[in-house]
Amino acid sequence: MTLLTDRYRRPIDYLRVSITDRCNLRCIYCMPFGGVSKLTHDDILSYEEFLRLVKVAIKMGISKVRLTGGEPLVRRGVTDFCRHLAALPGMKSLSLTTNGVLLEELAQEIYQAGIRRINISLDTLQPERFSRMTCRDEFDRVWRGIQTAEKVGFHPIKINVVVMGGINDDEVVQLAQLTKDRPYHIRFIEFMQFINNDRLIPHHFVSAEDILGRLHSVAPLEQVTSRHSNGPARHFRWPDAQGMIGIISPISHHFCPSCNRIRLTADGKLRNCLFSDRELDIKLPLRQGATDAELAQLLTESIINKPEKHALQSDLFRKCQNRPMVAIGG
Ligand code: SAM
Ligand code: SF4
Repeated sequence: MTLLTDRYRRPIDYLRVSITDRCNLRCIYCMPFGGVSKLTHDDILSYEEFLRLVKVAIKMGISKVRLTGGEPLVRRGVTDFCRHLAALPGMKSLSLTTNGVLLEELAQEIYQAGIRRINISLDTLQPERFSRMTCRDEFDRVWRGIQTAEKVGFHPIKINVVVMGGINDDEVVQLAQLTKDRPYHIRFIEFMQFINNDRLIPHHFVSAEDILGRLHSVAPLEQVTSRHSNGPARHFRWPDAQGMIGIISPISHHFCPSCNRIRLTADGKLRNCLFSDRELDIKLPLRQGATDAELAQLLTESIINKPEKHALQSDLFRKCQNRPMVAIGG
């Protein structure tokens, strides 16, 4: 199979699929203050529609798919959907990003359905702070969910931490220290600006270099170059630690030259860059009876038009204008 490349010769083999805009948390950096106006059942692609699009994408060279949301585990029937996706010929990696609230109940099922790689979001180890950051009192459930995921066999457990100055940045070292005696990958993500959170950015942005500096001051970190180095994170570890530390810095150290992905939103839009407002509707053609070849043409168009780089690196305070993160999926 010839791998798809965009006009900058970047191979595109990764599709992130947001299966719902709904969520059981209200993270202050992600969800607009008043919530989002919920899409109706009809606005959202059905599992059959997602499956058809993923099949077409796989035929074109996509081999890795990550499910996201909103919170993907709140959509009913997610386990069966995972099973069908995992069984598609050509699917090399099926993964999921979750806030962990429902993992205690669902970790076993989704593992059996074929998900092997999981990212769990957790920004703090303090229950009260968790409630302030997510507007829900769910720390204990998430923590138990992480333990369950580990027991069930997910390996490595990747934990995503959005670092906000004055809110949870004082926990960077403590969170990173989880890697010392647990096989966890703790991934620190720079706080990114979207339509809903622009007032917060000037007060709470912390750069990746600042985060790294704090970790280095505890003990020198080794940079890790391995197969884990694919993707947007730079990896580090403390000598003898079981796990790794990832730094994801889309703002200060952008990874556009190696970007390998496109996104499909729950309402059927193709997004070829996290920060670009340009989208291509694939839902209407799909529902109007487009053939697989016509759908493949739309995917190609989205890939070909992938921008060379996003604009945030030159303007930290620019924002993505048309969607909050909860409606994109990360
Ligand atoms: N609900 C799931 C979760 O929280 O993991 C999946 C969707 S969430 C939008 C995907 C990822 O985006 C999470 O790791 C979350 O922390 C991250 N995220 C959300 N808003 C962000 C922001 N403004 N800046 C950086 N990361 C953000
Ligand atoms: Fe929900 Fe995930 Fe956004 Fe938090 S980061 S509000 S859990 S979608």
